[in-house]
Amino acid sequence: MEPLSEHRTHCPYCGEPITLLIDHSGGSQSYVEDCFVCCQPIVVQVAEGEAAYSVEVSPEND
Ligand SMILES: [Zn+2]
Repeated sequence: MEPLSEHRTHCPYCGEPITLLIDHSGGSQSYVEDCFVCCQPIVVQVAEGEAAYSVEVSPEND
């Protein structure tokens, strides 16, 4: 797997399409990234598997 990959999703606040850069060297992780459209904090949760990974985004205070 590439060390970095782009993941396209939508902002949970404003619904705009956003592209996240996932750093696979960190393994499964969660972090907060501000939406570049509405500037609200998006919680990004990355779950790493052996052959694939999944990404979930949610509002910070959910
Ligand atoms: Zn947004």
